[in-house]
Amino acid sequence: SATFDVMRLRQDFPVLAREVHGKPLIYLDNAATSQTPQQVIDVFSDYYSRYNANIHRGLHTLADEATAAFEGTRQRVKGFLNAEDARQIIFTRGTTEAINLVVNSWGRTNLAPGDEVLISMLEHHSNIVPWQLLAAEIGFTIKVIPVEATGALDMAAYRELLSERTKLVAVNHVSNALGTVNPVQEMAAHAHQQGALILVDGAQAAPHQVVDVQAIDADFYAFSGHKVYGPTGVGVLYGKHALLETMPPWQGGGEMISTVSFDVGTTFAAIPHKFEAGTPAIAEVIALGRALEWMESTGIAAIGAWEGQLLNHATQAVGNIDGLRILGTAPNKAAVLSFIVEGAHSQDIGLLIDQLGVAIRTGHHCAQPLLHHFGVDATCRASFAAYNTLEEVDRFVEALQRVIGMVR
Ligand code: PMP
Repeated sequence: SATFDVMRLRQDFPVLAREVHGKPLIYLDNAATSQTPQQVIDVFSDYYSRYNANIHRGLHTLADEATAAFEGTRQRVKGFLNAEDARQIIFTRGTTEAINLVVNSWGRTNLAPGDEVLISMLEHHSNIVPWQLLAAEIGFTIKVIPVEATGALDMAAYRELLSERTKLVAVNHVSNALGTVNPVQEMAAHAHQQGALILVDGAQAAPHQVVDVQAIDADFYAFSGHKVYGPTGVGVLYGKHALLETMPPWQGGGEMISTVSFDVGTTFAAIPHKFEAGTPAIAEVIALGRALEWMESTGIAAIGAWEGQLLNHATQAVGNIDGLRILGTAPNKAAVLSFIVEGAHSQDIGLLIDQLGVAIRTGHHCAQPLLHHFGVDATCRASFAAYNTLEEVDRFVEALQRVIGMVR
């Protein structure tokens, strides 16, 4: 769009000025992790040089400042997700830990043999393996929502799978491997009709679109800081208030208690602190707040619209490459282009294109069941962010053509 000034916002990202193998970096591995604007990088030196202190303890100025900044991010995340209340925002190490929290707290107390959890074929391993670990212990059943040839979820099959045995549906909002955007609002409505809950893995949605947990009616929603222009080591779990209130803690320690006693037992803090044992990643949480502020001031809908242009441009351009097959052709897609090339190993393409300065991902993208379903072990994946340009897409496609010429 005319108002989206990509050249100006690129200046916020120091890494984009670097070269790789003597070539200007073209960073197209944003679904793995996004690059970080200077405003977010600055939070770390500011925090450690001015107000490094443990939060929620100690009545001194530095502790007050650190606590205020930390809790300020909670307020910002509340707005970012349109949560009802900041107490519904729990800080974790990332999406993976957020899902493990739900599995080990809600799952362990609510699932029994005979119960079913529906997981989609599109899931990242982090929304599969924690459920499998608990299922092996407890003996509930995991059922898989299939995908169509386009990589869209088979919604008719989903509705068939839902039954009174279904206790929870675990689905990503956007697939990291294919880019499919799932109709999570519709899926939530169907789940709720059957009395089941829905956990939405938003790791790949939060970077690209406005998320409204109330509109979706998600029971749980998770995302990671490092994919929304923030740091690693921090993520978020949103949960419905009444659920979080009844769920037991899953990790014990400081910060999460009300009183501790050897004689009369221990009582726990109110939410969200009940789920935040130990000293959290304080600087990272504060920096996450700054990253979300960066996204909001850039315009989240504008970012998504720009990435849509990049994706369309890339999809059209690679369409001319002989023997290239795109995986994931659902009508509703986020900024991910996953493909394989006849006669060329994905790994070789990835290594050679890196020599030309282009960073893409090759492999199974932590979604082995999905790739096996499509009969492949690996794909190449280019994924876009706010700071990518149409020229970069063109240079990526040129580089890809050169590399294919070399390996075929
Ligand atoms: N779910 C999806 C859809 C993802 O793309 C990722 C990260 N690749 C995760 C979960 C896990 O996120 P993290 O590694 O930050 O915990």
